[in-house]
Amino acid sequence: MLSGMPWLDASVFALLGLLIGSFLNVVVYRLPKMMERQWQLEAAEMSGQELPAQEPFNLMVPRSRCPHCAHPIAWYENIPVVSYLALGGKCSACKAPISARYPLVEATLAALFFYCIRTYGANTTGYAWCAFSAILLTLALIDWDTTLLPDDLTLPLLWLGMIAAALHWIPVSLNDALWGAVGGYMSLWLVYWGFKLATGKEGMGFGDFKLFAALGVWFGWQTLIPIILIASVIGAVIGIAMKFNSSLREGGYVPFGPFLAGAGFSALVLGPAALRQAMGL
Ligand SMILES: [Zn+2]
Repeated sequence: MLSGMPWLDASVFALLGLLIGSFLNVVVYRLPKMMERQWQLEAAEMSGQELPAQEPFNLMVPRSRCPHCAHPIAWYENIPVVSYLALGGKCSACKAPISARYPLVEATLAALFFYCIRTYGANTTGYAWCAFSAILLTLALIDWDTTLLPDDLTLPLLWLGMIAAALHWIPVSLNDALWGAVGGYMSLWLVYWGFKLATGKEGMGFGDFKLFAALGVWFGWQTLIPIILIASVIGAVIGIAMKFNSSLREGGYVPFGPFLAGAGFSALVLGPAALRQAMGL
């Protein structure tokens, strides 16, 4: 409890959600590029090649620039949501459109933070669900863009859930969390190999197993089946919509992570018990 007024606490965290959402936009854009550079470096090392020295590139440097004209983005052009509206969604220098996704991500995380603190209060439970929301949203966006679910995000999500369960920050026993991780990982691992043996194709990636395992930790093994069913329904609906829209990308591959994340957010907002009940489990 910060102010003693639940609405005020939740509003303060909504503002924090805007700021963290702004940082998540940077993570979503840069983390896959950082991973790619790391892979190139490792591949070059193994083959004994010398790579030309590269400019540093991480979450902090270089400063954000307009991808069209390289105009450096000033702090007052980088205020979550507000700057986007003030600039009319265009770069101040070259007037190239700025993706509406940036303010949408900021507003979404603000709404999630508001929900978590309004529902659970400004305490360890509320903070834990805020962290869950931020990491899960980042994973969904990176997977959608690149079909990657970085270990740097799935594994911290899993371990943070374990700690939250062990310290009773979330209403899942450590035992249920542990079996949630095992069941989540093993079930998709089996589906993966079954599909691969039957069709010779890879239907999903190892990142999906880890993300499902992490959701099993946060909601307990009992919620694994509702989560996978909801993810499959969302995935089927969006997959079919994209097919009719002919907006499927090369090879027709649709990543599964965003749908798992969607199911995770459903469980957060509706409550895992309601999901299980709705499915008669
Ligand atoms: Zn520009």
